[in-house]
Amino acid sequence: MEKRLRLAPSPTGLFHIGTARTALFNWLYAQKIGGKFLIRIEDTDFLRSKSEYTENILEGLKWLGLKWDEEPIKQSDRISTHKSYIKKLLECGAAYRCFTTEDEISELRNEQKKKGLPPKHDNRHRSLSKKEIETFIAQGRTSVIRFKIDENIEIKWADQIRGEIQWQGKDLGGDLVLSRRAEGYEIGDPLYNLAVVVDDNFMNITHVVRGEDHISNTAKQILIYKALNFNLPTFSHTPLILNNEGKKLSKRDCVTSIDEFRDMGYLPEALSNYMAFLGWSPKSADGEILSLEKISEIFDLSDINKAGAKFSWEKLNWINSQYIKNMASKKLSEIMKKYWDDNAWVPPSQEWGYKLAILLRDSMILLKDAIDQSKPFFLIPKIQKEGQDFLENNDSEASLKLILNYLTEQNIIKLDREKAKEIINEISKIHNVKKGILMKSLRVAFFGSLSGPDLIQSWELLSEIKTDKFRIERCIKST
Ligand code: GLU
Repeated sequence: MEKRLRLAPSPTGLFHIGTARTALFNWLYAQKIGGKFLIRIEDTDFLRSKSEYTENILEGLKWLGLKWDEEPIKQSDRISTHKSYIKKLLECGAAYRCFTTEDEISELRNEQKKKGLPPKHDNRHRSLSKKEIETFIAQGRTSVIRFKIDENIEIKWADQIRGEIQWQGKDLGGDLVLSRRAEGYEIGDPLYNLAVVVDDNFMNITHVVRGEDHISNTAKQILIYKALNFNLPTFSHTPLILNNEGKKLSKRDCVTSIDEFRDMGYLPEALSNYMAFLGWSPKSADGEILSLEKISEIFDLSDINKAGAKFSWEKLNWINSQYIKNMASKKLSEIMKKYWDDNAWVPPSQEWGYKLAILLRDSMILLKDAIDQSKPFFLIPKIQKEGQDFLENNDSEASLKLILNYLTEQNIIKLDREKAKEIINEISKIHNVKKGILMKSLRVAFFGSLSGPDLIQSWELLSEIKTDKFRIERCIKST
């Protein structure tokens, strides 16, 4: 039988990292077992669902490289089917009309609260006679459809992540509401637990992998599967992603939507690599920098932890920096070019752009770092306090003069890194100046401070755009 997994996002907000990680686990497992990965957009909350959120979710999945195998299904297109199944449940006596009013429900809640009991419906309309139903309708009462839940039933399933899970019927809050309120003999809009079962069955889903916040829903859904005579899929409940305080990661933790990660300069490969390890501990893996294809080969649901997974910026940043470090210069410089274009910085040649990408990729954590780190190559930076202090305290003017004279005397217009090294070595030998002083003085001249990328490679690049001499000269004048 074909193995089929799905992501069933509700388009009520931007693509959240929690949903993205659920998608990733589904996708990885589908690859691993040679199954299909499908999408169902659960857009039946008409007030909160928006088509731009659907687009955002699909775009985010594409960006992360999580391709789906069939045209996504929209739950809102299937409402009449959902209703026909509710009708079936009504007809076979597994469900019934409940006319309890909102006021009566709050009254019941208040009484339960006083007694310290959890909210639970008392199933008061389970066995209404036809006459009683007609009287309620004549009174203008609206009704929901409730699915009968046997108090004494025990629901068990073998969760692929958590092992055996058991629920008691009495702990499910009373008979389950399947549809919203409607007038007369109408059936109102179907609710989540019914729709999800009907749609998972329709899509022939064999494996449901979703967040642990759905565990009690699974217990309810299993009862609906059974009442409708549907084949049960296997269920797996993934741990939540937690913040530093051990609470569910939320908007308050700053960044949660996939867009924001992209805009901050995370690479999709790095983010999905990081997310895979967020709650998954493989028995054996060749390090932690692994492509999705590699991960899917060793991925198994049973290696997902039960405990919540703490989100770590440090780890994500490290993984991102590794991907940038290992990126081909052409690809990286194409990404960097977007930032250069935004700032109207024009590299003299494509080759120069590649070299700058190679030079900077070791020190970049986020793609956006390309802005600050490239800037001193395009705009001459001011000499900062630490640079000024160094120049004043180390007789740097003399060192820089020696370098400038060398360049002038030898008529060096453009140099490569070999030549740059040679110049430093020669001046150091001939004039008995420490190489360290020569290099640091040059660094201040080039970058205005004592930090920055590899000096020799930087010199080659600055020489190519003919700004090295000027940068040296300005320090000689200013000291
Ligand atoms: N629409 C539900 C959610 O976004 C999906 C639950 C499920 O996967 O069944 O939480």
